[in-house]
Amino acid sequence: MSNKIVGIDLGTTFSAIAVLDSIGNPEILPDLKNNRITASAVYFSSSNETKVGSEALSAIKAEPNRVVTEIKRHMRDEVVYSLGKGEWIDKKFSEKLEDEFTPAQLSSIILKKLKDFGEKIDKAVITVPAMFANDARQATIDAAKMAELSGYESDTIELINEPTAAIFHYANLPGVSISGKVMVVDLGGGTFDVTIAEVNGKKVDVIHSEGNPNLGGKDFDRLILKFMSEEYKNQLGAELSIDDVEYLLQAEELKKILSTRESHAIVIDGPNGPSKKIEITRNQFDDLSSSLIEAMKLKMDSCVKKAKLQKNDISQILLVGGSTRMPCVISAIKEVMDKEPTKGVNVDEAVASGAALYAGTIADKSDLNEAQKDAMSKIDLSDVANHYFGTIAQTFDQERQTYFQYNSIIIEKGSKLPVAKTNQYSLIGDQDGFPATVTQSDGPTENKEFVHIIAQEQVEIKNGKKDDEVQITFSYDKSQIMHCTFEHIASGKKHEIQIKSKTSEEVDAAQKEMKNFTID
Ligand code: ADP
Ligand code: MG
Repeated sequence: MSNKIVGIDLGTTFSAIAVLDSIGNPEILPDLKNNRITASAVYFSSSNETKVGSEALSAIKAEPNRVVTEIKRHMRDEVVYSLGKGEWIDKKFSEKLEDEFTPAQLSSIILKKLKDFGEKIDKAVITVPAMFANDARQATIDAAKMAELSGYESDTIELINEPTAAIFHYANLPGVSISGKVMVVDLGGGTFDVTIAEVNGKKVDVIHSEGNPNLGGKDFDRLILKFMSEEYKNQLGAELSIDDVEYLLQAEELKKILSTRESHAIVIDGPNGPSKKIEITRNQFDDLSSSLIEAMKLKMDSCVKKAKLQKNDISQILLVGGSTRMPCVISAIKEVMDKEPTKGVNVDEAVASGAALYAGTIADKSDLNEAQKDAMSKIDLSDVANHYFGTIAQTFDQERQTYFQYNSIIIEKGSKLPVAKTNQYSLIGDQDGFPATVTQSDGPTENKEFVHIIAQEQVEIKNGKKDDEVQITFSYDKSQIMHCTFEHIASGKKHEIQIKSKTSEEVDAAQKEMKNFTID
């Protein structure tokens, strides 16, 4: 293959990479052992060697502290994984030791492993959950830069929302022709997303996305382990540690078997005592999971409402993510939507494949051959903003005769991307500066207590006078990264905020910290 245009599903639990073949179809790239998906786990040996995937998982038993999993759950957090302590710690308490790693650094190790085919990548698209916050998206791009997916040219790396990629893949399958409103239900290892999109031939328009970044297969594993622990305790008096990785793996195995069987039994070795056979039926499992399932049903229902649709407007339901294999998930969907999900979508591969297709549509035309160009010309896609973005402004309260601060929304959730919006504000007094604030919120709130401040900087100005105009422009690109400009019109002073992307020096420094480690 002459060019490398790839889509990467960097999952909480499993990751996959797809490449565009010579006629523009996405193909999963298996690893050397022919695995089509790679466990998102990193192992650090005591001699500074790293392993990724199932080899990393198999080290958990002997050296649990040296294997890091569920990195994606921490992507937006100010934390580092400390190999010494074997846990995530707040960055504030970090001693900047050689054995501490940020979520972006750890993700870069997984990305390096995935792109381990020795050729230069021309275009890479990485997928993120639709509800991923801005800083988590930035951390993902930082990880791609550190992995040198495409040198430091960040415009070679783009992000796409996972459900959008899945629809994109499905809509472009040979022989499939879909149109109308489609719902994607994605339940992976750590996240849950519901998306409704309008599909017309090969064109996909996202209408609305909802989700919970902390609901996934792992939560079902923990419920099973809690059940196993209680059974063990009832019969033998001792408790099983519910954080024990090995027990968790056994619980996960049990869960998977219950997807195809009505009941299953396993033998558990007690922490210090005898082994015990524990059985669980699918009905028991369904009962245990009822509150998780209820939470999912509410999200699906609200997604339909917020898209201003009726359930019967949805023509198809696509399933993505390993956890949608659970019968309780399928029946919950049927109950809420009165419809069977579409069969025949590969729940593990759809996201990476869709991302590779998307990468083809945005790649430089000179990187494509004629057949690929032809395939890509038939594809189109647009996405929407998944949060509200605004700024903290001040206004005069006539009744109380005082100024008060409020959140002023600039970009609405659901705006089609790319989008750019400019709002006018004015200075409330003679002043030589004002704060430039960028907020993010899930709802259209004016209450500044309910928003997440994603950037705040002071803008210095000369001779600012009361009522001077300040123009604020937010532009939001297709990777859902914000660029903000605050301009004091009278003095022409412009202040730009690029939200939290690492500079190449910072990327260098973060990479250097990992130079002592060889990647296997
Ligand atoms: P992510 O996108 O979070 O990386 P995946 O889509 O790969 O996750 O899904 C991984 C999850 O799917 C894990 O929690 C795993 O236990 C679960 N899973 C995989 N196969 C099955 C199955 N047959 N039955 C139930 N759960 C499954
Ligand atoms: Mg996934």
